[in-house]
Amino acid sequence: MQYYVLSNLGYSVDRVNLIYINKNYIREDELNLDELFIVDDITQQVASKQRQVEQNLIDFEQILALEEEPNIDIGKQCHHPYKCDAYTYCWDKQRNLCHHENIFNIARLDQDKKFSLYKQNIINFSDIKDLSIFNVQQQIQIKACLNQEIIINKDKIKAFFSDVKLSYVSFGL
Ligand code: SF4
Repeated sequence: MQYYVLSNLGYSVDRVNLIYINKNYIREDELNLDELFIVDDITQQVASKQRQVEQNLIDFEQILALEEEPNIDIGKQCHHPYKCDAYTYCWDKQRNLCHHENIFNIARLDQDKKFSLYKQNIINFSDIKDLSIFNVQQQIQIKACLNQEIIINKDKIKAFFSDVKLSYVSFGL
């Protein structure tokens, strides 16, 4: 996009580089910037995408000219490749999904499973009829929310602490 804007402003862009940190670089006495950064020449790839950029802009203009917003449901595209700017509008304002008691807030539940349940209209915890499709921890979360109860597994906590080795540091003054 930057290439498209600059080129259309009349600038001649000879080269496009993607520069990122070399995570394997280990600094010695002197900082070596040539080793700290990796420079990728992506001029060809960027140039080859220019038609697509132009087409995208035409598409965007057509969408913006519509009287009504496009009827597209939420999906994985809302988070990837980054969180959409319209997230609050689609998820909270339109669908009221930003509260805690819905399938999107179940801990460690796979995204595909979340959207599959959503498509079956199983959205709020109260819509769940079959708890067995969730693992034990997830079932505890759902039950605790539905019953408004606090569940504490004292045996697990005891077992955890019995394995913790306390160490003491003493200072001689
Ligand atoms: S949050 Fe963004 S990507 Fe998701 S449905 Fe709304 S507009 Fe589309």
